[in-house]
Amino acid sequence: MMNRRTVVHRSALVLFSGGQDSTTCLAYALERYERVETLGFDYGQRHRVELDARLAVRLALAQRFPAWAERLGDDHVLNLAVLGKVSETSLTREMAFSMEQSGLPNTFVPGRNLVFLTLAAALAYRRDLQVLVTGVCETDFSGYPDCRDDSMKALQVALALGMDRRILIETPLMWIDKAATWEMARQLGDRSATPQGGAALIDLIVEETHTCYRGDRIHRHPWGWGCGACPACELRASGWVRWKNASAMLSIK
Ligand code: ZN
Repeated sequence: MMNRRTVVHRSALVLFSGGQDSTTCLAYALERYERVETLGFDYGQRHRVELDARLAVRLALAQRFPAWAERLGDDHVLNLAVLGKVSETSLTREMAFSMEQSGLPNTFVPGRNLVFLTLAAALAYRRDLQVLVTGVCETDFSGYPDCRDDSMKALQVALALGMDRRILIETPLMWIDKAATWEMARQLGDRSATPQGGAALIDLIVEETHTCYRGDRIHRHPWGWGCGACPACELRASGWVRWKNASAMLSIK
């Protein structure tokens, strides 16, 4: 007999930008939790494309994955225009991408992810959601210190103390690369009870999600829409190629 008290997590809030990573995280949460809500941030991005992609992805998931549709709850968007004032970066101004002396890209807004997660925790508290799911990752490394595993664990403790409620921060992509992220999506789709679910989820991510820093929806590549040259496109494209190559090798064996 187990007399240990077990905590069952039934609900989650997904930090959802409409990109490949957060869409994979949303599918991950929809598989695990009975009630899933999504949260996006509007902080004066140069391109509205990202915010439009969020709605398109949610709609497509609900239409093509009936088992997930009944779990998918409200969407929330918080206006964080203040971030643009604190730190003017190439995401909010017409500036070229470059690497700064610190080794971080000039898209970096110091501590941005801590702000996102703190607001997400406050919203989760109000909405009575138990888990925060975020697509942060140490592996495809842009050097963002506020996305590191240690930062997440420290923040989880700080939030639990500061809100006097345990809110779990879950990071399904923390230790995998972009190739493995494509594979995770395929497997989530296959387990979704939707016919051809893996292929359907990959198609959805390719067609509907948006990753490109330049907001390019003109050029269509096998891995999706984008300029093909910015750091975000390069990561997405190289992950796609490695995933395709690995899949081809497995199917030969
Ligand atoms: Zn791009």
